[in-house]
Amino acid sequence: MIKNFSLAIHGGAGTLLRGQMTPAKEQEYTAALQHALDAGHDILSKAGSALDAVEAAVRVLEDCPLFNAGRGSVFTAEGTHQMDASIMEGRTRNAGAVSLITGIRNPISLARDVMEKSNHVFLAGDGAMHFAKTLGYTIEEPTYFHNDLRHKQWLDLRDSEAFQLDHSDKKDSKFGTVGAVACDVHGNLAAATSTGGMTNKKWGRVGDSPMIGAGTYANNVTCAISCTGSGEFFIRGVVAYDVSCLMEYRGLSLADAASEVIQNRVLQLGGDGGLIAVDAQGNIVMPFNTEGMYRGFATSSGKSGISIYKD
Ligand code: ASP
Repeated sequence: MIKNFSLAIHGGAGTLLRGQMTPAKEQEYTAALQHALDAGHDILSKAGSALDAVEAAVRVLEDCPLFNAGRGSVFTAEGTHQMDASIMEGRTRNAGAVSLITGIRNPISLARDVMEKSNHVFLAGDGAMHFAKTLGYTIEEPTYFHNDLRHKQWLDLRDSEAFQLDHSDKKDSKFGTVGAVACDVHGNLAAATSTGGMTNKKWGRVGDSPMIGAGTYANNVTCAISCTGSGEFFIRGVVAYDVSCLMEYRGLSLADAASEVIQNRVLQLGGDGGLIAVDAQGNIVMPFNTEGMYRGFATSSGKSGISIYKD
């Protein structure tokens, strides 16, 4: 049995630009990230599973209105909230994902239920909602997800063809998709990602976050990954799986594989964003090519940290 564990979390690569970040806001983000880290750390330190740890950490971030997931999800073109989430376990490579769901407090737990309580991997829209109802999920009123700032972001765009990622330079309030990756004391890996997607999105737009291999991937042989960024490019780059493939097929280290994908391949496609990843030795990397990425990590050796911009 391995005795080490590692955990990393992100709150999106679409941070407030440095000039707009105030000490008070920074403190709010830091406290929220710390709360999520504590939830995951608590599980891992009691020899709990990586899967439980990533779900717990993501649930905390989904409950926090600061991030674009769960309660803080952005508005769609119809003025609703449509959320996406996925989770994957590295030992079995079991996975679960949901897309275009509404009214669910913690989409990551529904994704896990798809993995564990259905014969499927990916449920979307009305069908996913039906599945949630059969499991007894409470469907929250839209007011639960209402947030004045998010609403204003949407009002600024609603009559246009534009949609907006939290990564867009044009806007002054940036939030982000959330995710977690972990390696537990048994050497098992897991990854989880949850998002509200893009402000003013329409036509059933789905990003990379719920797509296994694009926004989320875990394989004990290589690593566990959760991405954040311009979803269309992350889908086309099959980003999470690409990191794993570079390790498995080309023998790159976690750091080299993640850096190659984020600092070269995604940029070459025209995308931006970042990822968090952990390997089975407990190494953690958190590369990004945007101005910042809300992120944090904690390990069994007592090391931990929270950062927003480049160190
Ligand atoms: N990747 C997410 C999406 O495209 C957005 C984000 O990471 O903020 O839906």
